[in-house]
This record gives sequence, C-alpha cells and structure tokens, in this order.
Amino acid sequence: MNPAPQSQAPTPLLRAPLRDRRWLSGKAFEIALAKPPSFHFTPGQRICLSHEGRERDYSLISAPDDDVLTLCIRYVKEGRVSPFLAMAPVGTSLSFTGPRGYFTYKPSPRRAIFVATGTGIAPFVSMSRSGLRGFTLLHGARSERELYYEALFRSVSGSYIPCITESSEGEDLFHGRVTDYLNSMMPREDYDFYLCGRGEMIRDVTLLVDAHFPGSLVYAETFY
Ligand SMILES: Cc1cc2nc3c(=O)[nH]c(=O)nc-3n(C[C@H](O)[C@H](O)[C@H](O)COP(=O)(O)OP(=O)(O)OC[C@H]3O[C@@H](n4cnc5c(N)ncnc54)[C@H](O)[C@@H]3O)c2cc1C
Repeated sequence: MNPAPQSQAPTPLLRAPLRDRRWLSGKAFEIALAKPPSFHFTPGQRICLSHEGRERDYSLISAPDDDVLTLCIRYVKEGRVSPFLAMAPVGTSLSFTGPRGYFTYKPSPRRAIFVATGTGIAPFVSMSRSGLRGFTLLHGARSERELYYEALFRSVSGSYIPCITESSEGEDLFHGRVTDYLNSMMPREDYDFYLCGRGEMIRDVTLLVDAHFPGSLVYAETFY
C-alpha cells in the first residue's frame, strides 16, 4: 500500500526565460529554463507550466544543484501546450509554479525497481543525476530511438532493461512490454516499485504486483 500523501502549500508564480532546446527523437525534446535563485526541489518532483490559461505538469530531469531547470517533453501533435513548448523561441519567458509532488526516492531495505514508459523516464533522470545508484530500471518504448538517456542509465543503474515493442535487431534488449518482463523474468521477491508514465501501464503493473509481488510497495506518477 502507498503511504498517504501530505498536502503541499501553494507555491508562487515564477517566471524564467527559455534557455535552450534539444530534440531527443522525432517525438520528444528537452527544454532548459533558467533556475530562479530561490527555487529548490527534490529529484522526482515536477513543475506546473502555464500557457494561455492552461496548466501542464512536467517532471524535472536536472539535478537540484544545476543552474537550469530541465524538462523532457513528449511532443503531442494535437496538444495545446507541448507544441508551444516545442516551438517557442529561446528567450521566451515561461510561467510556472512548483516544485510539487511526492514521487521521490524513499530509501528502503527492498530493492528499487523503476518502471517507465516514454518520457515517464524523466524523474529517474533527475534521481540518477543526483547520485542515486544501483536501482533496476525497466524502460518501455516502441523503438530503440526512444530509449532516452540510455547511456546514463547503463552507467549508473544496477540493471538496465530496455523493453521494446516494435521489432528490432538490437541486442541487450527485451522484446515486449514492461509487464511481459515483470511477468516472465522478474524473480518473485519484495520490491519498492516506482512507476511513471501512461496510466494504462501503471494500472497493469499494479495488478501484476498485487498478483505476483504481494509484499512490495508501489509508488506511481501518472502522466496521462
Ligand atoms: C504529474 C505529471 C507529470 C508529468 N510530467 C511530464 C513529463 O515530464 N514529460 C511529459 O512529456 N509529460 C508529462 N506530463 C504530461 C503533461 O502534463 C501534459 O499532459 C502533456 O504534455 C500533454 O499536454 P498538451 O497540452 O500538449 O496536450 P493536451 O492538450 O492536454 O492533450 C491533447 C490530446 O493528447 C492526449 N495526450 C495527452 N498527453 C499525451 C501523451 N503524453 N501522449 C499521447 N497523448 C497524449 C490527450 O489525451 C488529448 O487527447 C505529466 C503529467 C502529470 C500529471
């Protein structure tokens, strides 16, 4: 069972210029914002960006000591905010609140199993950049091109398991969904699962944990 969340006080509206953008694939990009001097966060937390009255949450991928706040964003073609963030010129002033959220690493005697789909990898990037080591990470993606931050995770995780659903010649990959890997390959022990990404994946993994890893804890962050 998950611990009950505590409430978080509202945070003031902040503004920061867009410093940089970098495309990771045809479907996802990073943006970096100048970090306001008063801004402090814990890896795994998010900010809430505002654009024309719409608010969208994005997990931070930078480390707390960096002088920029970096986000990893999926380009949703029909979306209202992500296409704006994909096209806004460097220098554009962005408004946001935060940090918010409880999807932070909790030390425990159980092994941490991180499970992400797509840009759901974001909070684990910040945790890794802040010195967290030795975790197991399952990253679900359609193709190898979408294995964002693969080099980082291969160097800092205890075990990195890319789960690819499109056919691929690549070695060192699991062919199938993250749920297929957990079902067929994962030793039946007690773990702390951290799930981030699509709601469908989070629901399916939670059901699987209930059935096969009953002494485990599940922490989850649903993107959509
Ligand atoms: C706690 C939290 C943290 C988040 N962190 C991140 C993050 O780090 N990176 C990130 O990319 N997103 C993240 N998101 C999702 C993000 O907040 C937006 O929902 C997303 O960018 C889409 O916004 P939009 O305005 O472009 O699309 P919208 O106008 O909201 O949606 C347009 C259509 O696209 C669909 N849609 C929405 N999101 C997606 C998606 N990701 N893939 C496919 N279809 C989608 C909607 O269902 C809708 O039909 C997070 C969400 C939450 C709740």
